[in-house]
Amino acid sequence: MAEHEGRCLCAAVRYRLEGDPFDCGWCHCRTCQLSSGAPAMAFASVRAGQWIVTQGEEQVRRMRSSSFAERLFCGCCGTPLAIDYDIQPETFDFSVLTLDDPALVRPGFHIFWSSRVAWFDPGDELPKYDRFRPNTVGLEGTEPPDG
Ligand SMILES: [Zn+2]
Ligand SMILES: [Zn+2]
Repeated sequence: MAEHEGRCLCAAVRYRLEGDPFDCGWCHCRTCQLSSGAPAMAFASVRAGQWIVTQGEEQVRRMRSSSFAERLFCGCCGTPLAIDYDIQPETFDFSVLTLDDPALVRPGFHIFWSSRVAWFDPGDELPKYDRFRPNTVGLEGTEPPDG
């Protein structure tokens, strides 16, 4: 497995991954847009407990961003770090761009394409889903709001 480490903008918070990331994709939901100030965010998953804060634990803030998830960010610089889904206790999603080398983890799909800002064209051929991917763990048969 590759060694993956990451940090926030001010570097108060540092983390490392203790497993290989998987299911990397873009999210275009409004919550991601507002949280990041960007058209979309790229997330990837690791197994629960494999996203380890190695420095600045006291700076990691949590904010309930929906009925089923909390967002983690640096309390000093505001960098969005991760999403912790109540409904997916086996996995943990982190922001790929906070990796020291974000190029190592490549998105494979787009979700919440229906919320994409009209002027943003990623120009790729990846699968695009209006909302969550079909059969997303914890969401089968439900219609929750954005994460
Ligand atoms: Zn920071
Ligand atoms: Zn999103």
